[in-house]
Amino acid sequence: MIALQRTPLLMIVSAPSGAGKTTLCDRLVAEFDNVTYSVSCTTRQPREGEIDGVSYHFLPPDAFQERVDAGEFLEHAVVHGNQYGTLKESVQASLQSGRDVLMDIDVQGAAQIRDYVRHGQDNEWIRDIYADIFIAPPSMEDLQLRLWGRGKDDEAVIARRLERAREELERWRDYQYVIVNDRIEDSYSTLRSILLAERQRVIRLH
Ligand code: 5GP
Repeated sequence: MIALQRTPLLMIVSAPSGAGKTTLCDRLVAEFDNVTYSVSCTTRQPREGEIDGVSYHFLPPDAFQERVDAGEFLEHAVVHGNQYGTLKESVQASLQSGRDVLMDIDVQGAAQIRDYVRHGQDNEWIRDIYADIFIAPPSMEDLQLRLWGRGKDDEAVIARRLERAREELERWRDYQYVIVNDRIEDSYSTLRSILLAERQRVIRLH
């Protein structure tokens, strides 16, 4: 039997808010201890229970902009009026520790990374390890019910999120994989299958 080693994966997951992405991703990280989240930076305020450096690196706008100017972000975007971004160095450090990295980022950030994977200079480190997945709700009606159901947001916020969801949903064809999250058990089983299959790609083994 030959002993194969594999290069860690960089898995990007995007979804409109309310599609169930956080539940699915949290479950993947809980089941596989060699899968870790990439911790993003954001200018939004911490929510109750969120810890700086764990949930996000919470930065004031000027500190965020300094990092943009210094070219430290692999990608960054404005989402719901706040800045979000992934530090290149922190992703590379996680990959070097041998773990697969899961990035929960919006469609704009995913598009920037895809562009870098295809055309970026010095992109060798990311080219062969990248995979992306879009998680879609079964319908807009279903998404609306879920956003109402979780009771986190008021009417105006929900209306804005639905409007944005409509735009985001149009981007699903840009991704390598799509999961329509009808039943959470089925969707989770598909997500973990994608991880397991991606790990076996010959290009990532040596
Ligand atoms: P929340 O503020 O609810 O945690 O996240 C709001 C949205 O921002 C989610 O759709 C999430 O995927 C996206 N997001 C979180 N971190 C990043 C990031 O580093 N880059 C980008 N482009 N989007 C992010």
